[in-house]
Amino acid sequence: MSGERPETMRAWVVREPGPIESSPLSYEDKPVPSPASGELLVQVLTCGVCRTDLHVSEGDLPVHREHVTPGHMVVGAVAALGDGVTGYGIGERVGVAWLRYVDGTCRYCRRGTENLCPNSLYTGWDVDGGYAEYTTVPADFAYRLDFDVSDTELAPLLCAGIIGYRALLRAAVPDHGRLGLYGFGDSAHLCAQVAVAQGVTVHALTRGEGAQRLALELGATSAAGPYDNPPEPLDSAILFAPVGDLVPVAMRALDRGGVLSVAGIHLSDIPTLNYERELFYEKELRSVTSNTRKDGREFLALADRYHVHARTHVYPMSEALTALQDLKAGRFEGAAVLVND
Ligand SMILES: [Zn+2]
Ligand SMILES: [Zn+2]
Repeated sequence: MSGERPETMRAWVVREPGPIESSPLSYEDKPVPSPASGELLVQVLTCGVCRTDLHVSEGDLPVHREHVTPGHMVVGAVAALGDGVTGYGIGERVGVAWLRYVDGTCRYCRRGTENLCPNSLYTGWDVDGGYAEYTTVPADFAYRLDFDVSDTELAPLLCAGIIGYRALLRAAVPDHGRLGLYGFGDSAHLCAQVAVAQGVTVHALTRGEGAQRLALELGATSAAGPYDNPPEPLDSAILFAPVGDLVPVAMRALDRGGVLSVAGIHLSDIPTLNYERELFYEKELRSVTSNTRKDGREFLALADRYHVHARTHVYPMSEALTALQDLKAGRFEGAAVLVND
């Protein structure tokens, strides 16, 4: 183990959840964590900014750990190995993502749906995450990142990318089908690239000219506002915007037998659905809950094969609060990434 590791580090901490404009996070000195048995200590190189971090900071998600350090799209270098860890070398590039523990024994884990494990734990919610100089991860939940892609471009793949991929799987798009993407931020712009590469026709339904332009640049066939009708009925749709009002809108845009997959961890209330117009003809409404490690590995391999590129907006780590405020206000396209300065 290297003796060069400092004892303290700079890290963001959610002091008291509240509106992001009121600065609920502060940038503080904290001890560098020690890796527990089975864990890696990771020096954070970059950390993506996720809408979930905003939910944790604003209190849309209940506090799981007081004064938690958010952040769960970490690209880092292994700095130390906890007891019993083998197969990783110091300095190796690894990814730390949202899912960080499952029990492996419950009925959901045993049937291959560890994303539904009731005993699961999450990075940057239950345990301190990556808005810091160092973080930890159980070695079994780390991703190996031996791709020829930069640290900043890799970070958004680790949640925005993986969750977008699970949402795409849940949307069950038929071969060469028609897919609507409601909202076109970090997750959607990665998901769209996979879908287009697989021969799917993508229609972006999002506010903001910048987001619409990005969608078209990435191969979407059309781009319009979220409440507009797509140019053709949809076989599948994914709701990325955390806006429940869009659920009936998207359900009406589906063709018979179509599927709407809701990607967010948090959604405002869904208005009453009309059975005849919005559900009949075997339309399906599905949620997306976290991801399995298999989803993560599959997505990273596909991203490499299809040359999925994240459109990034880089901030120094010390400006994480600004990044979250900009995310909420929709001030950038693509994905925000924090880089330790
Ligand atoms: Zn389980
Ligand atoms: Zn996330």
